[in-house]
Amino acid sequence: MHDFVIIGGGIIGMSTAMQLISAYPDARIAVLEKEPELAQHQTGHNSGVIHAGVYYTPGSLKARFCLAGNQATKTFCSEHGILYDDCGKMLVATTPLEMERMRALWERTAANGLKREWLNAEELQRREPNIVGLGGIFVPSSSIVDYKQVTAAMARVFQRAGGEIFYQAEVQALHEHPQGVLVSTPGREFSGRYLIACSGLMADRLVALLGIDPGFMICPFRGEYFRLASQHNAIVNHLIYPIPDPAVPFLGVHLTRMIDGSVTVGPNAVLAWKREGYNKTDVSWRDMLEMVRYPGIRKLMYQNLSLGVGEMKNSLFKHSYLKLVQKYCPSLTGQDLLPYPAGVRAQAVSPDGKLIDDFLFVTTSRTIHVCNAPSPAATSAIPIGQHIVGKVQTLLEKQPSAEQNLRAVAGVTVSA
Ligand SMILES: Cc1cc2nc3c(=O)[nH]c(=O)nc-3n(C[C@H](O)[C@H](O)[C@H](O)COP(=O)(O)OP(=O)(O)OC[C@H]3O[C@@H](n4cnc5c(N)ncnc54)[C@H](O)[C@@H]3O)c2cc1C
Repeated sequence: MHDFVIIGGGIIGMSTAMQLISAYPDARIAVLEKEPELAQHQTGHNSGVIHAGVYYTPGSLKARFCLAGNQATKTFCSEHGILYDDCGKMLVATTPLEMERMRALWERTAANGLKREWLNAEELQRREPNIVGLGGIFVPSSSIVDYKQVTAAMARVFQRAGGEIFYQAEVQALHEHPQGVLVSTPGREFSGRYLIACSGLMADRLVALLGIDPGFMICPFRGEYFRLASQHNAIVNHLIYPIPDPAVPFLGVHLTRMIDGSVTVGPNAVLAWKREGYNKTDVSWRDMLEMVRYPGIRKLMYQNLSLGVGEMKNSLFKHSYLKLVQKYCPSLTGQDLLPYPAGVRAQAVSPDGKLIDDFLFVTTSRTIHVCNAPSPAATSAIPIGQHIVGKVQTLLEKQPSAEQNLRAVAGVTVSA
């Protein structure tokens, strides 16, 4: 029997595994991943930004974990020889309305405890000669990294401490009982005293396997990118972000310097008809039917029809997509945009059609589920893992003395 079974070999699963084994070094811990390798979904298909925490509601888990995660990720990278680049982020306003929204963001960045600089149009032009705008905010703590490398390093730490990772182990059934959880994969059954599910795009389905109504559904949003032709690798000095509409802060394509030296444009946000579908034509009938049957997703689609159509247009027509970036980088042309793999975001939607904003966890007596962990969850993976270890400690305290052998080592700080 394992003491802990963790589902999911993305960055949240591996961060949790690494910190759990450090807190409980004598525990037997297994990670079950359905793919043949780690980080094959959101963690391996993202912008690679170590976010500073600009947009999030002050005091929310997102704001707190992003701020702490920014520092923790960089420290982890330094300790494990992983390259990251403190390139900083430039938020650029191109219209008077965006200037107004930029003032609100300036206040929010202060409330979130960030260092930042207000730039007028001349200063913006001096720092970013290829970018035009009426003004900008520079946030120096935004950085870039390869999250696949971070996840692999976490896995090495976990395995060196005695943790086990099982690949091609798709969890298909769960049974929670008073002593633990029975976990079924095609080749093998696992028995764990506790289960932690970090299953990203499948989060609601893992909760449902327990026979519980999750109270939300994962809505997959594909984020499509282009890569700039390599002669443009030096077109920007920082990450360039438009000022978002506060109603839809995740919309707005950005120019992202990647850690391999290339520059990507994107991502947009298109409703995906397949949870792990990375191509425009990917459709899963099961995923699609579940989505259209769920009242929350129907309401969301109805309430955001024009935004959705706009995103579809930008997805289908390169020149529409190009216009978004030409607003602040007018020298780019259609020929500069080369193909680049898309990612799919897992966004929890409530039955009343709201995008659940903050990170969300669902707990039963023997299980902890990470239910909503969209961006900036890669940045926040270390604090999220720490938060989960705190939840484990709380669950253990409620259990009879037979399990008191699972004691946290002295000196490990866990926070609930
Ligand atoms: C386009 C895009 C851009 C983004 N940009 C950024 C960014 O710049 N910075 C940032 O901080 N965040 C960013 N994010 C968000 C970030 O990538 C995710 O929040 C983070 O990777 C979530 O990690 P995870 O471990 O929860 O999920 P995942 O990486 O999706 O991992 C979940 C794992 O669970 C496995 N799994 C699922 N079901 C089962 C099952 N039944 N049995 C076994 N295994 C299972 C999957 O195979 C997968 O490996 C972005 C996301 C996207 C999609």
